[in-house]
Amino acid sequence: MRTILLAHVKRVVIKIGSGVISNASGLDLDRIATICEDVYKLRQRGYEVILVSSAAVAAGKADLGIVGKPQTIPLKQAAAAIGQSRLMRAYKDSLRQYDLKAGQILLTRDDLANRRRYLNARNTLMTLLEYGIVPIINENDSVVIDEIRFGDNDNLSAMTTNLVEAQLLVILSDVDGLYDSDPRKNPEARLVSEVERLTPEIEAMAGREDTDLGTGGMTTKLKAAKRATLLGAGTAIINGRTPHNLLYLFDGHELGTYFLPARDPMAARKHWIAFTKKPKGKLILDHGAQAAVTERGKSLLPAGIHKLEGSFERGDAVRICDLDGQEFAKGVTNYNSAELVRILGKKTKEIEGILGYQYGDEVVHRDNMVINT
Ligand code: GLU
Repeated sequence: MRTILLAHVKRVVIKIGSGVISNASGLDLDRIATICEDVYKLRQRGYEVILVSSAAVAAGKADLGIVGKPQTIPLKQAAAAIGQSRLMRAYKDSLRQYDLKAGQILLTRDDLANRRRYLNARNTLMTLLEYGIVPIINENDSVVIDEIRFGDNDNLSAMTTNLVEAQLLVILSDVDGLYDSDPRKNPEARLVSEVERLTPEIEAMAGREDTDLGTGGMTTKLKAAKRATLLGAGTAIINGRTPHNLLYLFDGHELGTYFLPARDPMAARKHWIAFTKKPKGKLILDHGAQAAVTERGKSLLPAGIHKLEGSFERGDAVRICDLDGQEFAKGVTNYNSAELVRILGKKTKEIEGILGYQYGDEVVHRDNMVINT
């Protein structure tokens, strides 16, 4: 029984994959209805529920005569434009049976990468929850361009877990969970029931596969699990095609794969710097500064910067790299690239003399820095 693992859970993000709620001809309304019934029951039990649902593309593509995956981005975007309202309608109709209402939020990565917009999206979600509405999030597929894409809804669900500070992420998939090898190729493959730490060995268990219906394979799910568990949120990957599996999970049944939350969770803001905010440039550090940052927990001072790449503003995220240009941390810079060119390698007390002002001793303060794991 897993009940104990869920004991502290109050708010849960549930990611629903295209492979769960759609088939070759469009949406699977029965599955959506069953999931909504479970959502209702979870809410009855006192959980706050946020849905991240895929299947806009799957719901709209038949109208464009597309079989399989849309082959071009405009076609995918057009299919999503047709399908998104259909998807919401399906949820709204099903939730209405239980006197529940849905609120749609369509996001791009840009919406969360900007701290002000991130906080704004958070406020909207909190307001919906406060009023008992079920938020249903999807990527804004019909307008999004490559540079500002989350890419897949597994990733979006991990970002959402951060956004709402949920204690649990449940990924409803069309497979039973993580297997130690590919179950379609190896009949002996065994389901991994619990993962304490997402090591490279575990990551290697995920093959890379896209299906006609969804974008992510197990690789993107593990990445999402890693990001969510780092926040201190447990993550479950379970088969969402089996009716009421969601409820069974909360009943304490040992189904799917459960990833334990990190023992030493990262603060939501640091997580946002590490995974959501987009880095704009690179700071290359000398060996001494690298050791000070990684081993002694120091802030980054101008003296330790060997050179920089790219152009960025004060407040942007930058990659912090070793002399070979390999990133080992990310951080938010207090100085823009033009200022940094003038003060790099210099002592802290020289900053004001060179620039005529200063924003502090640190180029990247420790509180605004995350060392890669
Ligand atoms: N946002 C896409 C959709 O609604 C799906 C992306 C994914 O499958 O991860 O169709």
